[in-house]
Amino acid sequence: MKPYAIVFTLFLFCATFCFAQKETALKHIAILSSPQMYGRGYVQNGVGLAANYIDSCFSSYKLHTFKELQGYRQAVTFDVNTFPGIVKLCINDTINLTPGVDFVIASNSPAAKYTSKDIVRTTKLRIANGKLIGVPLKNTVLVLDERSYASADERINQVTQGLQAMSYQKNEFKAIVEISNKKLTWDVSERKGTFPHFYLNSPRVPSHISSVSYHIEQTFLPKYQTYNICGYIPGTLYPDSLIVLTAHYDHLGMMGNKTIFPGANDNASGVAMLLTLAEYYVQNPPQKTIVFVALTGEEIGLKGAFAFVENPPFSLKNINFLVNIDLAGTGDDGIQVVNSTVFKQKAALLDSINTTHTYMPTIKKRGEACNSDHCPFYMKGVPSFFIYTLGGIQAYHDVYDKPETLPLTRFNEYSALLKEFISML
Ligand SMILES: [Zn+2]
Repeated sequence: MKPYAIVFTLFLFCATFCFAQKETALKHIAILSSPQMYGRGYVQNGVGLAANYIDSCFSSYKLHTFKELQGYRQAVTFDVNTFPGIVKLCINDTINLTPGVDFVIASNSPAAKYTSKDIVRTTKLRIANGKLIGVPLKNTVLVLDERSYASADERINQVTQGLQAMSYQKNEFKAIVEISNKKLTWDVSERKGTFPHFYLNSPRVPSHISSVSYHIEQTFLPKYQTYNICGYIPGTLYPDSLIVLTAHYDHLGMMGNKTIFPGANDNASGVAMLLTLAEYYVQNPPQKTIVFVALTGEEIGLKGAFAFVENPPFSLKNINFLVNIDLAGTGDDGIQVVNSTVFKQKAALLDSINTTHTYMPTIKKRGEACNSDHCPFYMKGVPSFFIYTLGGIQAYHDVYDKPETLPLTRFNEYSALLKEFISML
């Protein structure tokens, strides 16, 4: 067996460890965020490898399957724009910027290769004030240097979209290079745009830019097949009353063939919480049925959750309560609970448990927000919370969201809080 084949086989199967909860969680996170998972995106089918891992965990815990699904699997397809090959950006002939560290590309960028000394240097404010009207842009690279602006108002933010429309209609400039002091944050797109847009934030970017050279290899993947992974533990007293726990396992994948977005906090941590709770409840059967759902495609628009609620393997009306677990890896400053001002009694229950045990330094309340996988369920009338941890490392949608720097500060306490909450639902 060749070495890579061994690695491949290893990662197909769940790691079961004889450790305390947090230590087990760390192992799951290390595996799910490892380079062999390719950032759980769509390059090298990272998302599929992660699905295999979770499937093997559910299987090793002997979770029950719904007959409406294929084993634990529910197929979900969507379009996705990917960058499996070269992603290069060079400034002034000599400064080769590092993807993920010095710059990110817009996730809807098309394939492109170009070198230009024809630079139009401006700012969004100047464009908003009409300073670009009449300036010839054909075959130029537009450099937006926003470094001297602390924040841009909404009108200026709209300029980029305006530029996109302008370029599309007139086929003018070749690319936008936008330099700012804003944290580099990547995402993933289901669309392919019309020109590349580079976002730079690096001390390596000089104040004067005389040339720009770039090369992006891009592949658009229509109807990419992924899976929600779903299993359950039947309740001992109330099998028809369901408590649903969700956590998305997809992340952003790769921006080029070298740059991985590991997604340790977002959301290997939440999947680790889901898996450790599943393992716990197999040994400690709950009174109500607990359904565990590892959802796909969250980062590209809650695709897995929307698909699940359109075709659920059980009646959504039977859901007593749903908790969506996303970003479970810190807790230094407690947790934030989306929908806690909607489901006030449940929020009071969490508070009272926490007052007794002080699991969290604080539980912050928040109203409804369609910012993670609870949303499609909530829109269908399912009572639900979305809980995320606060404080600690601020890495988010970047190359620094790594397992080795994720503290899991309050992981055991968070787990204890959830178990007690679930027991009282
Ligand atoms: Zn997330």
